[in-house]
Amino acid sequence: MRFRSTRGEAPPLGFADAFASGLAPDGGLYIPEELPDVGDLLGGPTPYPELAAAFLKRFDTDHTAAEVDALCAESYGSFPDPADAAPLVQLDDNLFVLELFHGPTLAFKDFGLQLVGNLFEDQIARTGRPINVLGATSGDTGSAAIHGLADRSGARAFILYPKGRIAELQERQMTCTGAANIFPIAVEGSFDDAQWIVKELFGDLDFKARAGLSAINSINLARVLAQCVYYLHAFNRLPANKRGGLRFVVPTGNFGNVLAGWLAARAGLPARRFVVATNQNDLLYRLFGTGRYQPGEVAPSYAPSMDIQVASNFERFLCYHLGGDGARTAGIMARVKAGEGVDLPDFDPDKFAATRTDDAGILRNIARAKERYGYVADPHTACAFEDIDPAVPTVLLSTASPAKFPDVIERAIGEHPTHPTLEALKSKPVENVTLPATAAAVREYLEANILP
Ligand SMILES: *Cc1c(COP(=O)(O)O)cnc(C)c1O
Repeated sequence: MRFRSTRGEAPPLGFADAFASGLAPDGGLYIPEELPDVGDLLGGPTPYPELAAAFLKRFDTDHTAAEVDALCAESYGSFPDPADAAPLVQLDDNLFVLELFHGPTLAFKDFGLQLVGNLFEDQIARTGRPINVLGATSGDTGSAAIHGLADRSGARAFILYPKGRIAELQERQMTCTGAANIFPIAVEGSFDDAQWIVKELFGDLDFKARAGLSAINSINLARVLAQCVYYLHAFNRLPANKRGGLRFVVPTGNFGNVLAGWLAARAGLPARRFVVATNQNDLLYRLFGTGRYQPGEVAPSYAPSMDIQVASNFERFLCYHLGGDGARTAGIMARVKAGEGVDLPDFDPDKFAATRTDDAGILRNIARAKERYGYVADPHTACAFEDIDPAVPTVLLSTASPAKFPDVIERAIGEHPTHPTLEALKSKPVENVTLPATAAAVREYLEANILP
């Protein structure tokens, strides 16, 4: 299987090369040249690591079948119950929650980033070259990446986060690992500043090559493919009479999670509809309501991992929507980059619906989920509890453990959820550095600390 760029100007690559290069040289994102039918993976209760391997083998034809089995066994072996890494909890006759927060950092990003960590290790072994990972995080991505890479020889991770602007427990997840190859960097600025610095350093191709920089952001091909698997797993765990007309509700920021479900549906998963649940940063709500994509300003919310106004995986969706036309995709993305709004041609909203939940709504939905179903939802998952249709079989994706956001839960329902993994962090020393929010300062720090 080969992967082509959404902009159509870069040569197609195999899985391992597409994974290693991140962004394609023409600025596009890699997508599979064709989508294999995965309908035969539906039906039985296959253990999660086996299902993931069976799925990934359709796309990754660079590794042997035994290697893919080992990658998946290792990646999901870090979950407490690997066979059921994503438990499906029934709340009501037609309502189910797919819990994606049982991995090492208690958020759904572990599904992609545990695999990415193992793929990096494999790449280091194959090429004999070290890897220096550079990324920016508003919370969950950084900790999931760090836990995917901690203590791997030949790899170092440099993760930038906005000083004083992420939750204390999220900061502890990044800074209390005790791993010598992990370098958390608090920058004196916003998440946008941190992200801009990362872009700037990756844009310096000379420095990027010299430092052997690799990315872990949400456009990573392996992350998107890994995330398709739990949609199949959810289907396999549903009672047979709930599998028709199925609806998935997905708390959404960068669109990676929804895109994965939609790809799974194009590859044979019988899903009737995807509901894109946004917080007050409602770029995608507006897109699916009107067909117009118009990035705005980010306003911080109770669901910080969804505080996004440029959905980086949108480009993949756009390319499919335009029938694979790379030139048109590139043209529209150039206009988006220039800050222009764009109207999607021939937009058909039938496969998608969208909801928007502001902070007051998040508190209300947490209270409502508790009252109606006795279920405690984290602030991101709370966005998925908006406007549920009880007549339709529905799977809500739960993206984080409520214990990561105890203050918001406390405010909503007066409970203070805890988790042993997080409690253990509270007594560990914080190890990080603080740097000014400039590319020059971060570059200097990297130059002194990267693996040569
Ligand atoms: C990253 C994240 C999201 C948003 O996922 P996208 O793939 O960016 O749409 C939602 N909830 C939580 C808890 C997250 O960490």
